Amino acid sequence: MPGPSINYRIEIADVHSHSFAVTLTIPNPAAEQIVSLPAWIPGSYLLREFARQLSGLTARQGSRELTVEQLDKATWRVACSGRAALCMSYRVHAFDNSVRAAFLDAQRGFFNGTSLCLRVHGREQQAHALELARLPLGWEVATAMPAAGKGYLAADYDELVDHPFELGNFWRGRFEAGGVEHQIVVAGALPSFDGTRLLADTQVICKTLIDFWHDALPFSSYTFLLNAVDEGYGGLEHRASTALIAPRRDLPRLGQPETSDGYVRLLGLISHEYFHSWNVKRLRPAEFSALDYTHENYTELLWFFEGFTSYFDELLLLRSGLIDRSRYLKLLAANASSVLATPGRLRQSLAQSSFDTWVKYYRPDENSPNSGISYYSKGALVALALDLSLREAAKPSSLDAVMCDLWRRSAGGPVAEADILAAVAERGGAALAEQLSQWVHGTQDLPLPALLEQAGVQWRHERPSLAQRLGLRVSENALTGVRVTHVLADSAAQAAGLCAGDELLGCNGWRLRRLDDALLSLVPPQSALSFLVSRDQRLLSLAAELPAPRDCQAPVLLSLADKAPARAQGLRRAWLGG
Ligand code: ZN
Repeated sequence: MPGPSINYRIEIADVHSHSFAVTLTIPNPAAEQIVSLPAWIPGSYLLREFARQLSGLTARQGSRELTVEQLDKATWRVACSGRAALCMSYRVHAFDNSVRAAFLDAQRGFFNGTSLCLRVHGREQQAHALELARLPLGWEVATAMPAAGKGYLAADYDELVDHPFELGNFWRGRFEAGGVEHQIVVAGALPSFDGTRLLADTQVICKTLIDFWHDALPFSSYTFLLNAVDEGYGGLEHRASTALIAPRRDLPRLGQPETSDGYVRLLGLISHEYFHSWNVKRLRPAEFSALDYTHENYTELLWFFEGFTSYFDELLLLRSGLIDRSRYLKLLAANASSVLATPGRLRQSLAQSSFDTWVKYYRPDENSPNSGISYYSKGALVALALDLSLREAAKPSSLDAVMCDLWRRSAGGPVAEADILAAVAERGGAALAEQLSQWVHGTQDLPLPALLEQAGVQWRHERPSLAQRLGLRVSENALTGVRVTHVLADSAAQAAGLCAGDELLGCNGWRLRRLDDALLSLVPPQSALSFLVSRDQRLLSLAAELPAPRDCQAPVLLSLADKAPARAQGLRRAWLGG
């Protein structure tokens, strides 16, 4: 790391106005020094325009005030004279309680460098130092950024913004996996939180994933930063850490040994983000070789980096022994059901979904299920179809082997779609690689029922609910009543003229409190449903023909087939264990 480093002093200026004060010191500035704040944070594909929270930018060299010229929404230029250090000061408003930006109140602080640290153009490859100032009494700091002196030091700007910070009074625990220290930090947990159990379960997940990648550990320590909140869910992957947000009720509790669905979801999130340490942070789309912080970075490959990660996050919970096979099949069935309940799967391919994520997946609206498909959920199903195809081939292999081949061949670096297809062809033959390409670039449904049957898993359908028969998605609660959120394409609800935002007040003369099968007992058999709807202050009456259950997309049920042939049972054992 040659040359004096770029330095950021990050001060807790005022917790009540949620304000960080930042002083950036640039030794030997350029004559026309340009700085900018990123428009997005890697891993979350939406232009978030972090500069909108920045204010009061000033600059000086020694005691001399300099003029700061704004070039665009997130870029500034300062004309410097001589080589004296350029000092820039500004404030950042931090009240985004997600994993993607910055937050500060009297209880805790959190930030990503993309929200707080201006990028010094032309100096990105130099060392970047960071120090914290005026931390409230008793606050601690957690980050994976290497400590140096009184602060922290990153080798370059990419690294600086890839280590989030958690500040405050939090629970902290440590464990070892793969010979490397891991720590978990939990902010906002209830007093009944069972930290010992979370540590033990996370350790098993990490060891299983390290085994999966054949002990190729790409970091020298790892930190989980978990923010437990009333409502919220999500995670963001980083090179040696992850920032997570989850409902505090989902955390394990002392004296409650059962594993709730919420806890399984949290363990799946932990598994997902840790898997990303290999898949997307190192093995990554060729387009992400050098990140552009000012614009969208397009790739067609998120079905692989997010979808395949989503497949393995749950499969590896099973291999870790944290869930059993029937619970795993339930998770798989829920994902298959959600894909089949999305008409947009027939309109948008996975490659298109990846490319368009900046304006579609990350900007959902009432038409999203009709116009597109999630590269997470359908990508995970493609991974399943590919894994089963590899396992069922004449010369059996697995998706595990393909992932590790790719890791080795790319030396944990950028890959293109052709590299992925070549790795599949090598293990499963050219025809399978061609098949994968069609799954990813086409919109046809995947041959999962047949592939699962050959692996000793039975695919059936449940009876569809009333909302599913109508092609409606609704939100229901006592305050807002039954409110339509989505009307699915080519559905009975669409033919009836129902719209997103409609409140369903009644049906066939009866007050409607829930949209469930109980409603059908109020309606004469074979008759149309007549909904009383509130829309924009008007009351409307809309009639819907209810299709028969067999004509509707119904949820999937998966179970272990009792009388599977020996070959199918062997395959199932290799895939699901047991
Ligand atoms: Zn992910």
